[in-house]
Amino acid sequence: MGRPLHLEPRLGARLRSLLQSPGLLHLLTDALGSPLNVLVPDQIAENLERFRSVYRRHHLSGQVFFAHKANRSSSLLRRLAATDAGVDVASLGELQHALGAGFASDRIVATGPKNPQFLWLAARAGVTVGVDSVGELDQLAGLVRGHALPRVRVLLRLSGFEAAGVRVLSRRSRFGSPVREADRLLEAVERHRDTVELTGVAYHLDTTSLTEKATALEGCLTVLEECRSRGLRPRAVDIGGGFGVNYLAHQEQWERYTTQLTEAVLGRRPPLTWQGHGYGLRAEGGTVRGALGLYPAHRPVAGERYLDELLAQPAPSLGGRPLAALLLEYLYDLHIEPGRALVDQCGITLARVLEVRDFGTGGELLVRLALKADDMALEEHGVLMDPVVLPRDGAGARAEGGPVGVHLFGSLCLETDMITRRTVFLPCRPEPGDLLAFANTAGYAMDFHAGHAQHQPVARKVAVWEDGGSWRWSLDEQYWPTTPSGGQQ
Ligand SMILES: *Cc1c(COP(=O)(O)O)cnc(C)c1O
Repeated sequence: MGRPLHLEPRLGARLRSLLQSPGLLHLLTDALGSPLNVLVPDQIAENLERFRSVYRRHHLSGQVFFAHKANRSSSLLRRLAATDAGVDVASLGELQHALGAGFASDRIVATGPKNPQFLWLAARAGVTVGVDSVGELDQLAGLVRGHALPRVRVLLRLSGFEAAGVRVLSRRSRFGSPVREADRLLEAVERHRDTVELTGVAYHLDTTSLTEKATALEGCLTVLEECRSRGLRPRAVDIGGGFGVNYLAHQEQWERYTTQLTEAVLGRRPPLTWQGHGYGLRAEGGTVRGALGLYPAHRPVAGERYLDELLAQPAPSLGGRPLAALLLEYLYDLHIEPGRALVDQCGITLARVLEVRDFGTGGELLVRLALKADDMALEEHGVLMDPVVLPRDGAGARAEGGPVGVHLFGSLCLETDMITRRTVFLPCRPEPGDLLAFANTAGYAMDFHAGHAQHQPVARKVAVWEDGGSWRWSLDEQYWPTTPSGGQQ
């Protein structure tokens, strides 16, 4: 099976401390079942503060809206409601959840595809609506008129930005209106002046590319100027999310892994995956083809640092000045909608080991977990990261024997129910009853894909917080920020 290749998770102080409390984690999983999602609401407030520090450094104002779709947790949302952050909701249920968690309407923005009920509640409650098209604007205006609702604040979502003079690969999106058709949107805003108030323009690009996002932000500044020349008075740019997360502790491990994966695809070393899966790479006549379909799991410029770098990008069509300086000069508010980045380090997923079986002649093991692939969707998002073993009988009890390569299978009777196709190297042979802890799963990996296949339960959620040197917990839905340390009192 070759030399062990590790991809150790990056663990902040809270997750490290939590994983050093295996007694509590076993107790919780015994009581509430496997899989179990454990959330750390205090971390989201710390992550918010990091984004705020970038605003302060650039003297910028504006709101941080948490993209709710990254996690359905109540404790995270309620903890965030206790800060001054906002929330970006993309469905009727998310809007109801946000209102119920204590977000006033001026702290909520409604984005994404909307049905009439969602649009009505958004308008009735007075939240800002991110509008994707002229059709949606007409629909919203009709609702406001028909139900005699107050004027609704809107952001116009744009897409299809192009850098001046350059033929740029501008990403096609099914959301937002092409920026070259912005005039039609602005005409509609003028037509519906009695029912909607334009407060800004927006984009959300699902890319890691800084230049693509800088081009979009620059394009938005140009559209805002056009608005002013028409006598409209929008004053915000909402640049969406996609700030990213750094999942891995060590850059060398990531580089070594991806290099070795290429070698394995070429047949120059034993496979690193189940049945030689190449994560998008394949060998053709002795060379590697295809594109690696993985999240860049070691990503030092992520989260608030990515925002900082974006703001430092120059705007060629606006005198080449940095975007931050332009925002400040025009006194525009900068709104952001981080999902994944705001829940970085906010949770773990625990899974019980059910079965350990020798497999093949290479010393590899099949490990079956009380967990379905959909319950812990890091693989779905292309994030490769080692789980942490929490032995049943206490940490370190089985350190001898050395690392083992394992294939992690889920609990469905389906060949494809694999937790990851990667051969995972654990520090010791696991035993039934042990827990595997998957770190940093709060962003999209906990509940976005989870379902009830085979009548198996979806994971429960608990919230945990530190109180005087020890961890306390409650069910996620029981958590309210009623005491400084969270929990019930
Ligand atoms: C999904 C989404 C986000 C959050 O994206 P992340 O990559 O999780 O930061 C923000 N805004 C909109 C409109 C989205 O659809």
